Amino acid sequence: MSQSGSADGELRVAQVVLERGPLVPLDYLCPDGLEATPGMLVRVPFRRTIALGIVVSQEPPQVDAARLRPIAELVGPTLHDPAEAAALVRFLRERYLATWPQAAQPLLPSVRGFLPEAARWEAAAGREEEAGELLRRAPRQLEAYESLHTGPRTLPAALARQLQRKGLIVRHRPQRPPVPAAGGPEPTPAQAGALALLRAGQGGVHLLHGVTGSGKTEIYFRLIEDALQAGRGAILLVPEIALSAQLVSLVQERFGRRAAVLHSAVGEAARRSALQRLRSGVADVVVGPRSAIFAPVDAGVVIIDEQHEASYQQDESPRYHAQEVALRRAAHLGATLVLGSATPDLGTYHLARTGAMGLVELPERIGGRPLPTVHVADLRRTPGRIFSAELLQLVSESVSRGQQAILLLNRRGFHPSMVCQSCGQVPTCPDCSVALAYHDSGEAVCHLCGHRRKAPVACPACGGRMRLLGTGTQRVAQAATEAWPGARILRLDRDAVRNVGSADEVYRAFRDGAADILVGTQMVAKGFDFPKVTAVGVVVADIGLSQPDFRAAERTFQLLMQVSGRAGRADAPGRAVIQTFDPEHPAVRCAVRHDYGGFAQRELAERERGGYPPFGELLLIGYSGKEEAQVAALAQERTAKLRAAAPDGVRVLGPVPAPIYRAQGRYRWQTLLLAARREPLRRLAATLPQGDGDPRETPLFDPRQFR
Ligand code: ADP
Ligand code: ZN
Repeated sequence: MSQSGSADGELRVAQVVLERGPLVPLDYLCPDGLEATPGMLVRVPFRRTIALGIVVSQEPPQVDAARLRPIAELVGPTLHDPAEAAALVRFLRERYLATWPQAAQPLLPSVRGFLPEAARWEAAAGREEEAGELLRRAPRQLEAYESLHTGPRTLPAALARQLQRKGLIVRHRPQRPPVPAAGGPEPTPAQAGALALLRAGQGGVHLLHGVTGSGKTEIYFRLIEDALQAGRGAILLVPEIALSAQLVSLVQERFGRRAAVLHSAVGEAARRSALQRLRSGVADVVVGPRSAIFAPVDAGVVIIDEQHEASYQQDESPRYHAQEVALRRAAHLGATLVLGSATPDLGTYHLARTGAMGLVELPERIGGRPLPTVHVADLRRTPGRIFSAELLQLVSESVSRGQQAILLLNRRGFHPSMVCQSCGQVPTCPDCSVALAYHDSGEAVCHLCGHRRKAPVACPACGGRMRLLGTGTQRVAQAATEAWPGARILRLDRDAVRNVGSADEVYRAFRDGAADILVGTQMVAKGFDFPKVTAVGVVVADIGLSQPDFRAAERTFQLLMQVSGRAGRADAPGRAVIQTFDPEHPAVRCAVRHDYGGFAQRELAERERGGYPPFGELLLIGYSGKEEAQVAALAQERTAKLRAAAPDGVRVLGPVPAPIYRAQGRYRWQTLLLAARREPLRRLAATLPQGDGDPRETPLFDPRQFR
């Protein structure tokens, strides 16, 4: 097997995880000279095809290695430092209890989207004299070396490596386009102070807690400029590209061709070209959603904007949280990690307050603009009305002055449910245990799986009349045309986006003054800076509060703070009205006073009492399947085993039917594990068969665990 011996005559065997292959890495021989080191992408023969995979380790062979099949092709490195990629795959597997193929998935760009960038070489400067001497007895190397006189070109890998070892050639780096000259505004004293702290803590992890409109973006950009000056790149994560279009275009304006937007929705060709510009080093400023944390860039700074957003956690395996991956990458690259938010995730805030990471605060808006004045309207006093007197007046005033208003209701459709007036039956989705919502298209829609059908006029069971219940964004938009006659109204929610094509178009239209009032779901709470918005109304604040999630109050508070923060960002001061059935709820009361600190203190104390994160650890194990009885039996059996194996201090709760018992045709059960510390939980979960139960943990943001 001369073909598989390496230069020093020793066989190497690579362990390769296949994109769609078995749960364990497979052994392949490394042909002579093939540098299939950990983290390299390879193509290997698998069954009767050639499959893409990633090398996760490399070892001297066991006996019988000669019977292994050799790697077919070396595709290229996943990251500039392939070893980092291999470490990330191991991390994803262990941390998120994922299978090997699941853990490799974020680092395996789809084959279609991946065109390997072949290295081009040029003669090393000042080594021409020695070359003749060094290559006297190597005519093939000499020939290759001389071919570079006409300019950079690709070389056969083995020759390139030999010449590189002799120091005669270097990798050709394409010219980086310059950063456009027009920079940003001069930092205000508050921004300058924050920048000084962040620069002093270079290489560290920092929470940048700045109220809405405090000018965090300019701080991000200055830090990115620092990194570029130091010859390094940057990663800027945004919750969702569609909802961050304004920030994305600011990045493109500021960094020109050095910026690369990574997002599946930009289209395959654009994505491929962005990746290729990153791999070749032409671009080095990445902006994208959570998956962009895996971008091939030597980042000197990693920034996570709106770090509290739930979209940073992937909701299928591997259930990674981009902030945890960022902690890991930043530690590996020696990069500064900046987590920005007006309403930080409470776990992160707690860590920053207790000194586990830096805390930089911007308590005021740029230019001393006031935060909006917020009023509460008690919905119990105005039953059956969509808008309270306070909200009616607020919006009327704004609109009559030629300013704009935003109305938020975190529920789509016209009526969220229907009920038969005779027999009380509620039409539900055939695949999910969810009531169908009535939409103004005359359809009944499942908000979980998207199933839609013509809305029943009569009850399918008894023929009785259907009554439509509750309020969704479509109904709010219609009520707004009646409440403010003559006002132009735009709607922004997932249904509107389906019709218009993109959220970005709605944002732009509203910003350009095409409407006076923007009505929508939480999509209206984020993304754009709307200078003309002076009024914000929350139609019902309580919708999220009843969610069976220990973060329900936190999420509601964040949403209320974020949406009221849309008001009064330019010269005219802003006002907000929060309508609620529960005016005394801390999420509401603290949002009214913009009191993040007060909310955090109270909520954290409550979590400490209950042993919830960040003071304890939760691990949710879900079971799902098409056969109701089978899923229940599996959940019972596995939970009994977990309970028997649980060490002291680990509580096993359940199994119970999941809050949404049936989704997309699958029945769902869950078991909750609780403990003060993570390790016993993880050991217990690891006793489950691999890939079983789809465990999901609350994320861990403690930088001390990543260094
Ligand atoms: P945040 O991201 O903290 O909510 P932004 O970065 O959107 O705030 O800044 C709010 C507004 O202040 C934006 O319109 C921005 O252009 C403006 N701004 C930021 N920094 C400065 C500065 N140094 N001088 C003048 N205007 C600024
Ligand atoms: Zn459904």
